[in-house]
Amino acid sequence: MDKNNQLDLIIIGGGPAGVTAGIYAARKKLKTVLITGEFGGQSNVSEDIQNWIGTPHISGTDLAKNLENHLREYEAGSNNNNSLIIDSPNLVKSLEKTNDSFKVTTSNGGGYSGEMVLYTAGSERRKLQAINADKYEHRGLTYCATCDGPLFADRDVVVVGGGNAGFETASQLSEYTKSVTLLDRGGQFRADIITVEKVSSKPNVKTILNAQITEILGDQMVNGLKYTDTITGEEHILETGGIFVEIGMVPNTKMLSDMPDVLDEHEHIKIDPWTQQSNLSGLWAAGDCTNVRYHQNGIAIGDATKAIEDIYAHLRTK
Ligand SMILES: Cc1cc2nc3c(=O)[nH]c(=O)nc-3n(C[C@H](O)[C@H](O)[C@H](O)COP(=O)(O)OP(=O)(O)OC[C@H]3O[C@@H](n4cnc5c(N)ncnc54)[C@H](O)[C@@H]3O)c2cc1C
Repeated sequence: MDKNNQLDLIIIGGGPAGVTAGIYAARKKLKTVLITGEFGGQSNVSEDIQNWIGTPHISGTDLAKNLENHLREYEAGSNNNNSLIIDSPNLVKSLEKTNDSFKVTTSNGGGYSGEMVLYTAGSERRKLQAINADKYEHRGLTYCATCDGPLFADRDVVVVGGGNAGFETASQLSEYTKSVTLLDRGGQFRADIITVEKVSSKPNVKTILNAQITEILGDQMVNGLKYTDTITGEEHILETGGIFVEIGMVPNTKMLSDMPDVLDEHEHIKIDPWTQQSNLSGLWAAGDCTNVRYHQNGIAIGDATKAIEDIYAHLRTK
C-alpha cells in the first residue's frame, strides 16, 4: 500500500474491545481497517451472559452477532460514505513500525499500512502441556466447563488448576457429575481461602496438590491421566471420564514480543490507563491483552472507547 492509501488507524481484533473501537472510529470518520479472526471474542462460548448491561440474559453467540451487525452498519460500501474496512475472517501475522507509520501483514498474504494501531487481540486459554493433551482436546479434554460440562453428567471428572477459575469449575461440575478431583501442580492453591474451603467441603469433591500431569490416557476418548507427585516423585494413574483445564489465560501478543518495553512479564501490553497508549509511539491497546488488573467485557468496551478518544485527539490536533 502506498502513502496515499495509508490509513489513519488499524484495529487488530473483533472482540468487545475491537468492535467498540471500530464503531467509534467510523463515527469519527477515521480511515480505519478492522482485522479479526472472528467476532465476539472469548465469551462467544458462554450460554448465558448476565452482566451485559441493559440485557439481563444473552448468549455468547447472540452477543457476537449483535456486535458484528452493529459494526457492519458502518462498513464502507458503494452506497454510503462510510470509511471502515472490515477484514474478517483474517489474522494479523506481523506488525512492524516504520518511521512514522505501521505495517501489518495478514495470514491471507495481504497487508495494510496505517498511522496508528489499536491492538485488541485479547487472550486465549493456556494449554495443558502433557503428552497427548492436544490429541484428546474435544475428546474428553476441554477448556470450557460452561460449554461442555453437561456432557459429562454422572461421570468421575478431573479439574486441572487450583486458582479461582479451577475451584469455580469444580463447584459447578460437582452439582451434576459423580465426583470431581481437582489437581494442582503447586504446593498450595491460589484460589481465595473461602472458596477453597467451601468447594473442598462438598462430599463429591477431592483435591490433590503437588500433582504434575505428565500424560493423558484414553482410546477414542479420555479415560485417565498420569501424574507425578512432585514431592515423592511417585507416578500415579487416575481414571477419569473427563478433564477440565483451568490454568489461566495467555494474551495474544506474541507478535509484539521483540518490541522493547511494550510487554510486561506476563506478556500483557503495558498501557497508560489515562489514555490506553503503550510505550511505543503510535500503538494503543485495550481489553484483555492489556495489563489492567481486571478483565471483563465492560472494561474492554470502556477502555477501547477511551483509546479512540485519545487516538482521535492525536490525529486531529497534530
Ligand atoms: C468462558 C468465558 C466466559 C466469560 N464470561 C464473561 C461474562 O459473563 N461477563 C464479562 O464481562 N466477561 C466475561 N468473560 C471475559 C470477557 O469475555 C473478556 O474480558 C472480553 O472478551 C475481552 O474482550 P477483548 O475484546 O479484549 O478480547 P477477546 O474477547 O479475547 O477478543 C479478541 C479478538 O481478537 C481476535 N484476534 C486474536 N488474535 C488476532 C490476530 N492475530 N489478528 C486478528 N484478530 C485477532 C479474536 O478473533 C477476537 O475476535 C468471559 C471469558 C470467558 C473465557
